Amino acid sequence: MNLAEEYRRFITAAKTERETIDLAVMLAEEKGFVPLEKCGTLRPGERVFTTCRGKCMAMAVIGSETLENGLSIVGAHVDSPRLDLKPRPLYEEAGLALFKTHYYGGVKKYQWVDIPLALHGVVVKEDGQIVKLVIGEKETDPVFTIADLLPHLAKDQMEKKMSEGISGEGLNLLAGGVPVADEGAQEKIKQTVLDYLNREYGFQEEDLISAEIEAVPAWPARDVGLDRSMIGAYGQDDRVSVFTTLKAIVQLPTPLRTAVALFVDKEEIGSVGNTGMYSAFFTNFVAELAVRILPQYSEISLRRILAHSRALSADVNAALDPNYPDVMDKFNAARLGHGVVLTKYTGSGGKKGTSDAHAEFMGLVRRLFNQHGVVWQSGLLGKVDQGGGGTIAYLLAVHGMDVVDCGVALLGMHSPFEVAHKADIYMAYRGYRVFLGA
Ligand code: MN
Ligand code: MN
Repeated sequence: MNLAEEYRRFITAAKTERETIDLAVMLAEEKGFVPLEKCGTLRPGERVFTTCRGKCMAMAVIGSETLENGLSIVGAHVDSPRLDLKPRPLYEEAGLALFKTHYYGGVKKYQWVDIPLALHGVVVKEDGQIVKLVIGEKETDPVFTIADLLPHLAKDQMEKKMSEGISGEGLNLLAGGVPVADEGAQEKIKQTVLDYLNREYGFQEEDLISAEIEAVPAWPARDVGLDRSMIGAYGQDDRVSVFTTLKAIVQLPTPLRTAVALFVDKEEIGSVGNTGMYSAFFTNFVAELAVRILPQYSEISLRRILAHSRALSADVNAALDPNYPDVMDKFNAARLGHGVVLTKYTGSGGKKGTSDAHAEFMGLVRRLFNQHGVVWQSGLLGKVDQGGGGTIAYLLAVHGMDVVDCGVALLGMHSPFEVAHKADIYMAYRGYRVFLGA
């Protein structure tokens, strides 16, 4: 309950990948982690971190064993499904000003209409100044919303498939409704919004092209259930893993194997880009560590370190939903409140795309958790041929290391209000800590 209270505040504040990394850096520095770039030779017990473009991060506690024995890694992702403003978002129609969006990641579009949305992001002005922006989180702030069609006129819409009921180009946020007084202005309502942005932030319309603004649910995380056993919040996939991994690594005494926490971006859209798991960020970090620890560093040392490493891919899984039991194999589904979930494989349609964890590695993690009283369960993502999904596990496995998916089970995954069980959050934290310290 105490850990969950801290988590509730974290998940309410960390609504974008940038905000998550900012909070992680703050906590890391508070706990004595220093930027790797500033370090010379590293010795056991030293704590370092590095970030890339404010969107991904790696932390390490240097172990007492030689680095070539491999690292113990827990890796999570910091991005979550959301609606991104388009580069030219603002337009006027029917006497209203609106922002156009492009959804990010796997969303069910109908879940994002008729709810209060906040805008979070950065705008880079013409002179290079970077302005951070959060509108809609304070009780006195205005919010944004996408109005759905009233049922009275929704005859055609209601006949459509759920995937087509709300269109991608229909995800437009209400942004204003008062015209400017200036008789000569072309689009008077749009001008009101532009005038506001100029007055409050000094923005010109063109500044929105060099910006990343994300529309996210404007509500805070809340306790769910009369017994307060659960937490409902936006972005728990996968920031629940980020939080629990962070809490685990900052408390770690000097381990035998060097312990690494990895927080990457872009998992929800395929781990692409220079802040995603496909990028060189992680291997560069390990190389930067190695060159500061091994007197005779070479490429073969890097390859050995990576191949001898072992990793938990810290990501959420789906819990058995009492409203939808038919999509799960009940004998292999994770249950809310039954502990952290070990997922041997993800993938879809014949295990395609998964990094299937080896029995030996499942055995090692199981033994470790059992020895240290970590309550865990085995889970799979749904029935065979029901669908599926993936994590960053297969991109860690590329280096030759052993990896298994391990995380918290959710109800309503990818929705604006995902639900997790506090006991599972606590056991994820315990599990990651045991794994990093082993
Ligand atoms: Mn995830
Ligand atoms: Mn996801």
